[in-house]
Amino acid sequence: MKTLGIIGGLSWFSTTVYYKTINQLTNERLGGSHSARLLLYSVDFNDFKVLQEKNDWDKIEQMLTDIALRLQNAGADCIVMATNTPHLVADIVRQKIKIPLLHIAEETAKEIVRQKVNKVGLLGTKFTMENAFFKDRLTKFGIVTVIPVSSDRDFIHASIFNELTKGIFKDETKKKYIDIIAKLKRDGADGVIFGCTEIALLITQDDSKISVFDTTAIHSKAAVDFALS
Ligand code: GLU
Repeated sequence: MKTLGIIGGLSWFSTTVYYKTINQLTNERLGGSHSARLLLYSVDFNDFKVLQEKNDWDKIEQMLTDIALRLQNAGADCIVMATNTPHLVADIVRQKIKIPLLHIAEETAKEIVRQKVNKVGLLGTKFTMENAFFKDRLTKFGIVTVIPVSSDRDFIHASIFNELTKGIFKDETKKKYIDIIAKLKRDGADGVIFGCTEIALLITQDDSKISVFDTTAIHSKAAVDFALS
């Protein structure tokens, strides 16, 4: 079994889901008392939040590269950044390390193709919904992306930073997400990407009339596939 190098804490609420899912899947596949071999570097989320608010992506990239190199030097066989938004700088981090980085958008695109879905809605932070780093990956796989209207993007972004990454899950916020997904469906989406690792802690497939692509679950499974390959 290979050793996973996980960058967590972005936020820790979803890192716990990664940790649990990766261990559960490893045990399902290997049986007995097996669990995952992994190194976890959990950051102080506030450091990243402050830099994101300042749009200082150079500094974020430097911090992530530094952590990735530490994990590499400690014996990790790959890097898993357990979050979507920081993938904005994943291509640069990739160039500076020797081990593979399992890209969350690439793994999500593969799963969407596997399920034969052509047009998907993308929910996440404004960085994820409005920049190219996620959408371009989907386009490369022939997937068409739709994003919520500006006021809905503002709402989702604020809910991620003011509620979900603080472990606050409100019914009224959940209702609004369900309304936004219904609008994406009206725009022709056959699926919706939970492109923020905390969204599945608020809503699930049961709340959605279209297929859900939960990046936390997809990325965790991809990590196990890698570790056991
Ligand atoms: N975990 C979130 C994501 O998947 C947002 C937190 C962050 O900005 O890192 O994008």
